[in-house]
Amino acid sequence: MNIPVKSRRLFLGDWAKAIIGVSVGASAIGSLLQSCSGPRASSGNAAFRTGFTQDPLPYTYNALDRSIDGSTMEIHYSKHAAGYATNLRDAAKAESVDESKPLEEVLSKVSKYSTKMRNNAGGHYNHEMFWKSLTPASAGKPSGKLVTAIEENFNSFEAFKNQFTDAGKNRFGSGWAWLVIGEDKKLRIGSTANQDNPLMDVSELKGFPLLGLDVWEHAYYLRYQNKRPDYINAWWNVVNWDYVQSRFESIR
Ligand code: MN
Repeated sequence: MNIPVKSRRLFLGDWAKAIIGVSVGASAIGSLLQSCSGPRASSGNAAFRTGFTQDPLPYTYNALDRSIDGSTMEIHYSKHAAGYATNLRDAAKAESVDESKPLEEVLSKVSKYSTKMRNNAGGHYNHEMFWKSLTPASAGKPSGKLVTAIEENFNSFEAFKNQFTDAGKNRFGSGWAWLVIGEDKKLRIGSTANQDNPLMDVSELKGFPLLGLDVWEHAYYLRYQNKRPDYINAWWNVVNWDYVQSRFESIR
């Protein structure tokens, strides 16, 4: 749609607010946003606000054993991810962050905070999303409007999988591969280094993350050692497409 330059700037800023669940419904900008995105744009994603503590793992440590072994899951959740959560709360106290507000607010202006905040706010957000995006009962592929959008943006589900797999394989060192929906409603694949993510103002890849893949060695080394591509191929078998779909539905 065509939006005058001045309004469009407001719209873009407000799109970010919609992601983090800030209410915009009563304002003129809110009306613009809703006319672009439908009434669910500013309300549905409130379900995806992230706090400053770990949610319980939604399955047992060994539930994903067909793809990720129980030892890896236990160390990953109870040591690595727990460490990010603890260090995030330390940074939040030191930098006077209101922990009753969504973590997404910090991510959207993370350049104003310390490196410790950037690393641990990202680390906590990314892992909270990662656990929920996995399930022992994966449908194997998306359905409904999500698969239609994937086919429109990447030609086919197989082409999407190949491009996403390459993003994970080719991320040098530690980081994440992502499927995001941009403010233009297009789906994009990309990757970020370390614990950065596409909600951060410092990220080159920007958008609302629908699916994220942890390609740090701690995510796969016990079973797969140096064979990151084998881990990624196995990971596809435990993706929770219902969860990805619900994130997609909340923002479109
Ligand atoms: Mn990790």
